[in-house]
Amino acid sequence: MIDRILRDREQRYYEILSLITEYNMPVICGKINYPGNDKNTIEAKKAFQILKQILIEKFSNNIVYSKTLSGDDGSSILIVADMESLESKKIAITLELTHPLGRIFDIDVYFGDGESIGRENLGMEPRKCVLCGENARVCMRAGRHSLQEVVDKVNKMIRGCM
Ligand SMILES: [Zn+2]
Repeated sequence: MIDRILRDREQRYYEILSLITEYNMPVICGKINYPGNDKNTIEAKKAFQILKQILIEKFSNNIVYSKTLSGDDGSSILIVADMESLESKKIAITLELTHPLGRIFDIDVYFGDGESIGRENLGMEPRKCVLCGENARVCMRAGRHSLQEVVDKVNKMIRGCM
């Protein structure tokens, strides 16, 4: 299962690279940061639909091409946007910080040779844990919460938006 998720991610990355080459514009990739190995639960799909709609709305004036992918890593939307990559990353981060589901929105902007803009490049603080609000990466490494706890919390957040 994990192999299939990784393969799916890799495939998506190649897709992103070919879009950058084809259009010579930044590619925004929106997906759900969903815990566990099943990335295609009803809740994950619902959250993705919400994210997809918002992204299409936010970038409506700049979308040159968009495509929805689905696979073992869950659904994702790729948007080729005719705008500065930094500008699009700012929009992405604002969404991640302000939307009720922002902590599980994963919106990356790729450009150039396929590098992506990190939050730290914009002087932003790292992503927060859905349970305790600490740095999500630190929480995960320390194993501070069980997978079930995180899944339950994320599903509850999503159901709150259904
Ligand atoms: Zn935590």
